[in-house]
Amino acid sequence: MLRYHTVPVTPFQQNASIVWCDDTREAAIIDPGGDLDHLLAEAQRLDVKLVQIWLTHAHIDHAGGTAELAKRLNLPIIGPHPGDQFWIDGLPQQSVMFGFPPAGHFTPTRWLADGDTVQIGHCTLNVRHCPGHTPGHVVFHSPDIQRAFVGDVLFAGSIGRTDFPQGDHDTLIASITQRLWPMGDDTVFIPGHGPESTFGRERRSNPYVRGT
Ligand SMILES: [Zn+2]
Ligand SMILES: [Zn+2]
Repeated sequence: MLRYHTVPVTPFQQNASIVWCDDTREAAIIDPGGDLDHLLAEAQRLDVKLVQIWLTHAHIDHAGGTAELAKRLNLPIIGPHPGDQFWIDGLPQQSVMFGFPPAGHFTPTRWLADGDTVQIGHCTLNVRHCPGHTPGHVVFHSPDIQRAFVGDVLFAGSIGRTDFPQGDHDTLIASITQRLWPMGDDTVFIPGHGPESTFGRERRSNPYVRGT
């Protein structure tokens, strides 16, 4: 069975999640934005072996630690969708702009597309392409444990910003209603920032997507 532990990292309190297979104790880290020593200590405390990096999108607070972590542990980088290439290319500028430690450039080992799956140990998660916040944003869904790791698509009570280059509000709303809602009202989502919620609760009470 899939298990996970979420660790807020960077001054942006980005939710990096360590996800692992109970049987093999192999783990992937979703969005290693920074604070790598802290993340590695958490992986050790959980007694899991990091073997993959998964990215929802290439903003600095989510992807800033990727190049260094991949190099340190020799890990494959999986995701995001190729639409985020320009954000990856811009990581050095993003680090200067937001006062992050210099972020190295990387090339994903494997780009992701809508309908792909990713695997950790004996656990499989579905990949959905959810553009709008960034054009190459993806989310990871585990139907088995009814959890979705949604990055900056949706938050408890809010939605992702769409005022960045190639951000688009209508596209983001379509991603939420057409690709997240079908996962089911009872599905718990882990957003890129802030507390968890369920899709059902957001459909009832989130002012940006209420009643959709
Ligand atoms: Zn973002
Ligand atoms: Zn973010």
